[in-house]
This record gives sequence, structure tokens and C-alpha cells, in this order.
Amino acid sequence: MPSNTLALETIIQGIPVSPGIAIAPIHVTARGFSAPEVYEVSETNLPQEHQRFEDAVTRAKSDLAEIQTRLAELSSDEESRIFEAHIMVLEDQALLKRVHHAIDERQQNAEFAFYAVMQNFLEAMRRIPDPYLRERTADIEDVCERVLDAFESSLTRKNIRPEDRHILIAYDLNPSDTATMDRSLVLGFATEMGSVNSHTAIIARSLGIPAIVGLDEAIIDITALTHAILDGYTGKLILHPTEATLNTYRMIEQKKLRARTALDSLRDAESITRDGRKITLSANIGLLEELPAVKKSGATGIGLYRTEFLLLNEEHDAIPNESEQTNAYTQIAKAVAPHPVIIRTLDSGGDKLPAEPLSEPEPNPFLGWRGIRVSLDRPEIFKPQLRAALRASAFGKVALMFPLVSGLSEVRLAKEMLRICMDELHKENVPFDESIQTGAMIEVPSAAMIADVLAKEVDFFSIGTNDLIQYTVAVDRVNPYVADLYKPTHPAVIRLIHRTINAGAQAGIWTGVCGEMAGDISLTPLLIGLGVEELSVGPQQVPSIRKAIRSLSHAECACMADDALKASLSADILKLTSTLAKKYYSELFE
Ligand code: PEP
Ligand code: MG
Repeated sequence: MPSNTLALETIIQGIPVSPGIAIAPIHVTARGFSAPEVYEVSETNLPQEHQRFEDAVTRAKSDLAEIQTRLAELSSDEESRIFEAHIMVLEDQALLKRVHHAIDERQQNAEFAFYAVMQNFLEAMRRIPDPYLRERTADIEDVCERVLDAFESSLTRKNIRPEDRHILIAYDLNPSDTATMDRSLVLGFATEMGSVNSHTAIIARSLGIPAIVGLDEAIIDITALTHAILDGYTGKLILHPTEATLNTYRMIEQKKLRARTALDSLRDAESITRDGRKITLSANIGLLEELPAVKKSGATGIGLYRTEFLLLNEEHDAIPNESEQTNAYTQIAKAVAPHPVIIRTLDSGGDKLPAEPLSEPEPNPFLGWRGIRVSLDRPEIFKPQLRAALRASAFGKVALMFPLVSGLSEVRLAKEMLRICMDELHKENVPFDESIQTGAMIEVPSAAMIADVLAKEVDFFSIGTNDLIQYTVAVDRVNPYVADLYKPTHPAVIRLIHRTINAGAQAGIWTGVCGEMAGDISLTPLLIGLGVEELSVGPQQVPSIRKAIRSLSHAECACMADDALKASLSADILKLTSTLAKKYYSELFE
């Protein structure tokens, strides 16, 4: 039901990053306080609302003054000064004026007008680059709660408490906010910042949460409670949808569901091209909660287990110890057996959480202390992870791979550490798989250039295209301002992938792709044509990639890939691969 029948349907265009449709009221920001009820007020009753607001502010201020006096008696000046600052917020004439203005303009009850103004104010504060000032948002939230409580009203503040199902709107979300979202409540999310290849977007796709990013300043005007449709296919956020629009979207949902059911019926079919080339189709996960989705997708194992979310969970004080990690890895290995799980060792840093707080923030975190660099510098983190993976290998098929390899010595040092761990476990009589496979992620151009050298040291390559693209074309993968330059089909990227696959084949090892390129149905012909042997994608993408593989001929893809390697423009390469994709599975694009 539309939240405000008078409001006009409004469409805000963002960037679609995770498909699906959500229809629900909006909850602004992941944090914050609950909203009061909203109702319309007739012109004649507006003066009463202005008075109610004045009274609530007066009451909140006198409560604060009382607390301040009590605190001053009991503790230090510093603590009581916090409340002095809170009182000052309520004396800010500009802010008070905005609320009075909002009451008149919206013709809504005073507590809701106050709430709406403060939410926008808080959103603006969250954008302040200065971390100290940004942290002050918590104080403002406190003041808001107090004023809302001070309204003498029989209304309960319940409408959009986050316990209700909602679409979440936020300035930005970090990967762990997204990973810990309650799927039963958050039906979709939209953010002002973000990009297709941020970890937040990757997790949203993996968990099947419809999502849009890059809404720009538009979100500052979105009011909590607004009824909305979030279209994760086209990137539209539709506020106050009309009944006709709602019906259209209900029909789209039905159609997508039918298409999904058809794809799911191929769950047990082999991932093999029409001319008989088998492609291993595995899943990427970051959370144990994704295991049922992997099972449902029919993926042949896990091609990338991102261990950051297990190791760097904000809710825990410390990195899980060896036995806790062993339990998690064993659970995964058993769940996917007889298929393998490729455990990627910790890849902290970049846009993910750091392994440890640094004294100074890194000016260029993606070029800094992340991936295998951290593990090699911190054996106290690396060794328990390697030992845990080895221990789990006794219960299923486990492989290990190392992130952000940039040169040979990193691989050698990592393998040396693995050898030490194996020797220790031998001495302790702990069983493990002696022939455990190790792989290198190829996601730094230097690694792709020396793939022939690295191929002699490892059992497989897994190309991390998310990072490979950003480092090749010098485009930050999470920066929306340069997102247009982030081109998966850039000729340089294609040549690096080709070089890696060839080097692997010559050394007799397999090469897969676990970056987001692997899950893009337009690019499946290109990757198969270039010779990849494994594609590892989010569990939600497995069915459509399986269908794509089964529709294609490897020989035809290889011919197209030859042409692509000769092309000079990313647009031309995209056209070549998309043409084949649309020729054989146009229905997947609908
Ligand atoms: C990649 O870079 O493509 C990759 C799979 O690793 P992540 O996205 O975790 O950096
Ligand atoms: Mg990477």
C-alpha cells in the first residue's frame, strides 16, 4: 500500500549490482533510531504541531540540564560537558527553523517532521570526511531519541523499526554490514556510494539480496517510511509506486520466478559445452550460511572461500583460533564432499577489514598491506590458518590458494610456511591430506606476466579478475567516479588472462576464474574461448552460467576469442562475446 497517497511516483536511477525485486517501506540507514508514526495535519491544526514541537524541545532540554547537573556532582567535567553539547544542538536556531518549516511544508505531525529533518541531517554528517566529526553522529542520534521521547503523545514509535521488513537506504555499507544483514528483514538495499565490484556488492549477489548503488545525493531526500520498489535488475528505486507500477513489478517477479525454476531443473546437468568441453562450475562463498545455497545450486564444490569474514568478524574480539577455524573449514569440506573447497588464505585490507589496526591509515589501501603480504608478515595469523586448513583436509577435499601474489618469492615463502605446518602436524600425529593442492590467485598484472614462472610452483591458477582489472587499468574497483573506466573486456585484461591460461596449460596446471567476470553471462563465451577450465561464481549465478556453458560450442568460442585478442577496443571485444551469448541464450538476458 502506498505510504502517502498524495505523493507522486518518483524514480531514482542508480547502478544495479544485485538482481531481484524488493517491495517494502524504506528504512533510512543501517544505524540510527526508530521512526515515529506519521499522519497528516490539517492547515488549521498546524499551530498546535509547532507548539508540540516547542514543548518537546523544552522538556528534552530540561531533562538534559538535570542529567548534566547530576553528572557534574558525581563525575568529571568532561562527561557532563557531553550533555552541554547535546543542549546546544537543541538551541541551534537553524535546525529548529528547519523543523518548523518541515511541519508547514509536509503538513505532517511534529514528531515525524522532526524525525525527517534529523535523518537528513545525520546522513549529511555521516559524509563528513573528518572521523572525529563523523563520530559525533552518535550524540545527535541520542538527542533525537530524547526529543522524540519528550513528545507527549500516545503514539508508539513502531512503524519502521528495523524489526519490520524493509528496504535499507544508506550512505554506504561495508562488507561486514552486508554479510551480517538479516535476510528476513532486509529485502533489498540501496546506497549512495559503492560500485559493482565492491565486496559489498559481491556479498549482496552471493546472498541474493537485490541491491542498487551509486544513488548519489538523491538519498538525502528520501524519507523513512516511504513505500518503494527496488529493482535490482535495472537499478531503479521507485518511490510512492502507483498501483499500476506495483502490478507490473508483481508480474516481473512471477516471470523471473518461472525462469529461475526452469534453470533450477538443470541443477544436476553437467557443465559441458555442446562440443564436449567440460568446465568445472564451482561457487564462491564468504560465509558458512551460504552452504545451503551452494548445495541448492548444484555447484561442483567451492572455487573460492573468502576467509576474511570468518577471521575478521567485527563481533569477535580476536581472530578465531586454530581449532575454531578447523571446525569451520571441516564443516565446509564435509558439506561439499566429494567436491573440493578451495580455501583462500586471509585477504585482509583493500576494502575489507584490516587484519590489525594500523597506526596510520593507508593512503592507498589497495596498493598496501593486504593479501599474502599480511600473512607472510604475521606468521601468528598465517600458521593457524594453514594448520586448520590442513586438519580439515582429513575430512574432505581441501585446496589452498594465496591472494594478491605479485612475485615468485611470495609463493615460495607461503609454501615454505605450509611445509613447516605439515612437519609440525606430522610430529603431532595429526592426519591431513599429504597431497593438498596449492594455487596462486592471479590478480596482479606482475603475476600474470610471470605466470610461466609461477606455474612451476603451484597446482592451479585462479584468476581474480576484480583486482586484476583494477590493477591493470589503474581504476579503484570501489570508486564510482571512475567506474566507467573499469572495463573487464579491456584488451590488456584479455591479454593477461590469455597469457595466464597459456602458461598454465604449458606447465600442465589448470586455470580458473573466480572474479566477478566469471558470473557475467555476456563474458562466458570469451572466457571459455580463451581456455578457462573452471568458473567459480556466486551460488545465485551458478544456474545461469551452467545454462550458458551448455548452450555454447567451445570451438566457436575459441574462434571468437582469437578475434577478441586482435581487437583494440574493449567495446569491440564486448560486442564479439555478447553476440555469441545472445545468439545461444538470449532468454537469459530478458
Ligand atoms: C578478485 O579479485 O577477483 C577476487 C576474486 O578476490 P576479491 O574480490 O576477494 O578481492
Ligand atoms: Mg582479489
